[in-house]
Amino acid sequence: MDHTTRPSPASASTTRVVDVLVPVALNQTYSYRVPRGMELAPGDVISVPLGPREVVAVVWAENARPDPRLHNRLKDVSEKLDVPPLRAELRQLVDWVSTYTLSARGMVLRMTLRMGENLGPERTRLGVRLIGEPPRRLTPARRRLIEVLSDGLLHGKSEAAREAGVSSGVIDGLVDEGTLTVEAMPPPAAPPSPDPSYAQPDFSREQRSAVDVMRTLAASGSFHVALLDGVTGSGKTEVYFEAIAENIRRGKQTLILMPEIALTGQFLDRFAQRFGVRPLEWHSELTPRTRARSWAAISEGKAPVVVGARSALFLPYADLGLIIVDEEHDQAYKQDDGAHYHARDMAVVRAHIAKIPIVLASATPSVESEVNARKGRYQRVALPSRFGGQHMPHIEAIDMRRAPPPRGRFISPVLAEQIRHAIERREQALLFLNRRGYAPLTLCRACGHRFACTICDAWLVDHRFRQRLVCHHCGFSMPRPNICPHCAAEESLVAVGPGVERLQEEAASIFPESRTMVLSSDLITSIETMRSELNEIAEGRVDIIIGTQLVAKGHNFPRLNLVGVIDADLGLSNGDPRAAERTFQLLNQVVGRAGREQGRGVGYLQTHQPEHPVIKALIASDREAFYASEIEIRERTGYPPFGRLASLIVSAGDRPTAEGFARKLVAVAPLDERIQVLGPAEAPLAVIKGRYRFRLLVKSLRNVDLSQYLREWLEAGPKTKGNLKLEVDVDPQSFL
Ligand code: ADP
Ligand code: ZN
Repeated sequence: MDHTTRPSPASASTTRVVDVLVPVALNQTYSYRVPRGMELAPGDVISVPLGPREVVAVVWAENARPDPRLHNRLKDVSEKLDVPPLRAELRQLVDWVSTYTLSARGMVLRMTLRMGENLGPERTRLGVRLIGEPPRRLTPARRRLIEVLSDGLLHGKSEAAREAGVSSGVIDGLVDEGTLTVEAMPPPAAPPSPDPSYAQPDFSREQRSAVDVMRTLAASGSFHVALLDGVTGSGKTEVYFEAIAENIRRGKQTLILMPEIALTGQFLDRFAQRFGVRPLEWHSELTPRTRARSWAAISEGKAPVVVGARSALFLPYADLGLIIVDEEHDQAYKQDDGAHYHARDMAVVRAHIAKIPIVLASATPSVESEVNARKGRYQRVALPSRFGGQHMPHIEAIDMRRAPPPRGRFISPVLAEQIRHAIERREQALLFLNRRGYAPLTLCRACGHRFACTICDAWLVDHRFRQRLVCHHCGFSMPRPNICPHCAAEESLVAVGPGVERLQEEAASIFPESRTMVLSSDLITSIETMRSELNEIAEGRVDIIIGTQLVAKGHNFPRLNLVGVIDADLGLSNGDPRAAERTFQLLNQVVGRAGREQGRGVGYLQTHQPEHPVIKALIASDREAFYASEIEIRERTGYPPFGRLASLIVSAGDRPTAEGFARKLVAVAPLDERIQVLGPAEAPLAVIKGRYRFRLLVKSLRNVDLSQYLREWLEAGPKTKGNLKLEVDVDPQSFL
């Protein structure tokens, strides 16, 4: 070795280096020098300079043998932050998810560091207290203020001003006179913890045995997956609450994942009824301050129960003991922008790494979970009947070929008749149509012109409430014109097909006396308005509810006994390998809203293909038939879970560039007889936001490490430059 380049022993021993993962789109760690006097260990949350910025990052590993030539080029860690270190299990999860999904490790880390960037310390709130005699000059404002403070206690300064109806100047004046003092308010008390014994219900015999399993599971404190498989209204929530109660007793934290946090108002109340307080919520609409507080509470172990959307999976729990995944089959668990990951699957991975139990709950488990339960990999905990002896809804098909609605209408006379009966009985009816807006297509009767998005391969959807034609893929919108832009004909535009808004118009015209309400994600301005609308329905102040899949999920509407599915065929014909599964799950769930309190639920499926296996299984309430046929098809065709899939989506600003790159990519795919590379094919949604899209589908046997195959292929393959983009989606849920 060349002695001249070796560092002197002194400099080697005094310069410590750590490898740091920064939350940006990079896989590798960066080395930083540890300033003298700073103690750092893996997991510590730190602040480091990154280019011109300071970023919050995490020590990923000690670098025992830093390359001496780099010493002088390395930057120093700026600061060690005063937050608990990320535990090894969470760092392992970040590594695992990144390796599996081929997402940059820094991007996965970013999901755990969502603590609200550098807000600084909490502002201390000021309080005001009455301490001296009133001054001689007493205005009415001063008198009111002294009245408010007459108890001699410390009041929030701004609250006191508001209560007395005075400006803060009035307070300051009295402080100057020595009548009042201003002091710092003590920090707000931590909310009380959920009480596991607050209000435990009496369980039915069937529920009791499931509850026993739940308690044993939570007490086991080891990795174990239970599939809580119970029909709608069987009391799955009540049952898994007992696993949570047990976990709280053990002093550990629980994470409850929900597919759609905007819809959990009723859930929070039910939780409070059972445990005395609401759990901590985690979702994207939290204010930065609340987010920072919640992050701190979670990482310090002060939040015993957290309910959140998929991103809550990556939070730094101090001592997570149990994970619940509610509605585990829901496709909203798949994130398709940024890192492509499936939160249910990654929750199982987290439970495995952390060696803790996990409960997956559903009335219609995903085919994956169903197969795992059949093979004994997951423990099935079944609740085959509704609580309180209520009957499951009776389901009938309405053959739209035999009982069609009048022209331009979408509600069959048969269904209309049933709605009429429901209203006469002062019950509610729910009309389900998974289409937002008024009409999915607008065309000109004179020239045939159809309104399409200028930058997407999609029709513009007519939204009458907003008075605009809207693209559902890029958000482009334009006012609905009065004349055809193509042939200039006047009054010639017609709406084609139904959306929920049009359905409301139809329902209101058939039942002019009834109160209708549309529930659709685009009409929601905030979680709060959503929650209050749902309460209005639950209180019976609406007769006919018209909704998209938003209404399918988790609500209890006591007076709802009739559900009409306007187009049961809608999801069946889109060529998606999961079309049958999705339709079965969605329609089962929607119809399951009916008859939960009174047990007289009826579901009507308007269909043009009553012979379709999915429709037949729904009508016969024959779950077994559905799973048997679906599992057989997947097994025969090698689709998940019997084989594995990944999608590669190539996009570019022009078609030839995208297609050319996709072809080059396929040409260099390593040969492996266990793996098929299909395509490239133009994506069903061929253009989004002006980007032309081509798809490759990679299909392998079940035991192949598909992620590793993809990594080797893409490392050796052509590189994207300029406008080209390559997205990798392991275990794709969407095939558009
Ligand atoms: P699921 O989630 O399986 O659809 P839920 O947990 O929502 O079912 O229960 C359906 C309804 O039955 C809810 O109103 C719930 O409060 C009630 N319920 C279930 N089990 C019990 C019980 N043991 N005691 C009292 N009410 C119950
Ligand atoms: Zn568009």
